[in-house]
Amino acid sequence: MLDYDPNLTTVRLGSYRGRIIRIDLDISFGLRFGYNTLMPKNYILFGYPGAGKSTQVDLLREAGVDFSLISIGKLLREMAKRDDSLGQKIGQTMASGELLDEFLIEALVKDILRDTDKTKMIIFDGYPRTLAQIRGMEQFCQEYGLDQPTLLCLKITKEEAVKRLSDRRVCSKCRNNYGYSRLIDKVKCPSCGGELIQREDDKPSAIETRFDLFDLQFGVIRHHYEALGKYVEIDGLGTEQEVHGRMMVAISHI
Ligand code: AMP
Repeated sequence: MLDYDPNLTTVRLGSYRGRIIRIDLDISFGLRFGYNTLMPKNYILFGYPGAGKSTQVDLLREAGVDFSLISIGKLLREMAKRDDSLGQKIGQTMASGELLDEFLIEALVKDILRDTDKTKMIIFDGYPRTLAQIRGMEQFCQEYGLDQPTLLCLKITKEEAVKRLSDRRVCSKCRNNYGYSRLIDKVKCPSCGGELIQREDDKPSAIETRFDLFDLQFGVIRHHYEALGKYVEIDGLGTEQEVHGRMMVAISHI
């Protein structure tokens, strides 16, 4: 696991010959001036299903953090709506909680990366999930000259995750997420009036599979990034703003 000093304030000054110049101010020991020329940092956001990854991504955006987001799960959910055999296959696999075919994921990521703004930080949400995908990711980063990402794990207890997932409802029209227990109208979306549904993979039978798979996949991925010294755990318990604060500290200093 990487160590970072929460008293260290990082100021990004902009770019020099296409590289970001960073100056670190160490508040606890006065001014410790140092600079390094960096390519933008990249991160993989990982966490138990329901750990609040999407919420934290939105909060980073709201806080003005400039990044490109590659969310495979979101993209797959869009593709699952297609009225063809691929859409059906994706929908069925996602509903079962299993992982999709490696070739499909690799082709997808390759496609998205080609069109992604690579001059700024990239956050990968839900990818890589297997050793094959880690290899793919390393290759893509090499190809494009990108920083090999650091794995950020939003950590919550299983019990908390199950509680949150069972409470989650999504609008079938605008795809906004809501906490069922906090909704006044339990049927219609408060922002667009669309029908509120429970994601197939948030239903109890699929949650079990997702958790078993998560434990299995995460062990491998964590081990890999830990060995590289690129693994950071963030406590995901507490309010959204508390977790956001921890995320900001992590991405500013690592
Ligand atoms: P998520 O929204 O990230 O929890 O992903 C929802 C579902 O999409 C997963 O349960 C898988 O079925 C599929 N999926 C997402 N990311 C991947 C990936 N990297 N590799 C394979 N399947 C994935």
